[in-house]
Formats: sequence, C-alpha cells, structure tokens
Amino acid sequence: MDTEKFFVVDWFSASTEEDSYKDGILPNSSGSSWGEGDMGFKSGYYRTIEDALKAVCEANYFDYDPDSWEYFEDGQFNGQFMVDVNNSEATDGDIEEWKKGRKRLWCCDISVHIKKQSLAEDVTDEECENWKAPSMFRCSQCETEYPLPKKAKYKKDKNGMNIVPCPKCGTYHYMTDKALADAISAS
Ligand SMILES: [Zn+2]
Repeated sequence: MDTEKFFVVDWFSASTEEDSYKDGILPNSSGSSWGEGDMGFKSGYYRTIEDALKAVCEANYFDYDPDSWEYFEDGQFNGQFMVDVNNSEATDGDIEEWKKGRKRLWCCDISVHIKKQSLAEDVTDEECENWKAPSMFRCSQCETEYPLPKKAKYKKDKNGMNIVPCPKCGTYHYMTDKALADAISAS
C-alpha cells in the first residue's frame, strides 16, 4: 500500500433551488449558496476519495450515501440532496409532506474538488472513476461484511424478495433484486 498517497478536498460549493414535486425546479427561486469557508471546513488527509466525500457530508450535516454522488471530471464530484428551508437534509417524512404539497423543499447541488496530498497533485481519472467502495453484503446478525458468492442460487419469497442466507451464520436476509445484484457484482 502506498502510504504516501492521501486525498484532500480542495474546495466544495453548494447551492440550492426550490424544487416542486409537481413542477420540478422553480425558475428564479430564491436559494442559498455556501462553500467550505462558510462551514469552517478544513480538509484532512483521506485514505480514499469516499472518505473525503464523507467528510464533506459531515461538514454539511448530510448523511453519506454513495448513490447521492457521481464523478464529473477533472477531480470534481457532484452530489445532490433535498434540504428544507434551513438547508437541513430532508427526512423521509419531509419528503412525504412535500409530495402532498404541504412542505417546501429545495434541491441542493454540491460540487467537490478533490486533489492529492497538499493540493500539489491532480487526481487521475482512473482514481475518480473507481471511487466507490464495492457494495458489500452486511449481515445484521453476525455483522460480517463481504461480497456475496457469484454462483449461489437465491430463492424468492412470495413478495418477490430474495432470500439470502448469511454465508457465515446462516441468518436469512430479505433483499430486493437491486440490492442483491449490487452485492454480487462486487464479488
Ligand atoms: Zn451472519
């Protein structure tokens, strides 16, 4: 392992626009914008790009979810979050209310620029394209984490959920097709 290689956050910037469930982004809606300085964020040295994005989420009080992020270009990653009037991440309950037209929510776009140690070096496209840790199956019973065996056959229950026995302790887990495909493709 190359212990000299760390990732750092050069900058991030976030901006919001009001999002309507019916009509989408409202033109000229009043939003807000902020950057790393406003949040008092100072980059650390991160082992992985994912750790760097997690730190940015933490600085903004957002939950980290790899699906909220995608690689754009030149070391820039873009993330999207739904936020309320105080720029706090919307809860599932907030989103339900918003869908019913009973709550206003904003779409927050956040861009993060990642570099190498001490901002001296650019990250490569290859590093950026392989930024996500592989999805893992995590057993809630024995807390073991690993990709699922590729060749195993999984039965379905009557609701169409896959019945997946933990390869270590045998506890049954119910997984959607997508969750199962993700855990297998990582193996
Ligand atoms: Zn287990």
